[in-house]
Amino acid sequence: MKPIHKLNNGNGATLCNHCSKIIPTGLTDALFCSLECAVKENWSYEEYNYKLVREDGLIKQSEDVCWLEFDENGKFKSKHKDIAVGRSLMMSPFSQFFTWQTTDIKEIIEQRKDYIKFKTTNSIYELYEKANICR
Ligand SMILES: [Zn+2]
Repeated sequence: MKPIHKLNNGNGATLCNHCSKIIPTGLTDALFCSLECAVKENWSYEEYNYKLVREDGLIKQSEDVCWLEFDENGKFKSKHKDIAVGRSLMMSPFSQFFTWQTTDIKEIIEQRKDYIKFKTTNSIYELYEKANICR
């Protein structure tokens, strides 16, 4: 599935793959206007263990995640299994070109076994683990 980009009076817009509503953030790589639409579209999670949803509808899936810590100069310091304020989320594959990494985590809003909601410098994200997704 690919983002649907339309030119709208010369302005780029992205349409929801489910309800065709315009996603209000302009041209993005978002697929759906809401998590509800993503679920309704029977979006496949099967080969992935993690699903990251950004507040603007952007969805990323991955087999694995890790949490990175950087020093005060922005240099990589260490890699962790658990979330903490100041770390950033990295999704697999952990290669320079295909990965997805968030900005610094500022606040952990909600944390359950299979679900974490957190705030970074730029956005609010929800991270789902498969056990929760397949409920
Ligand atoms: Zn929609």
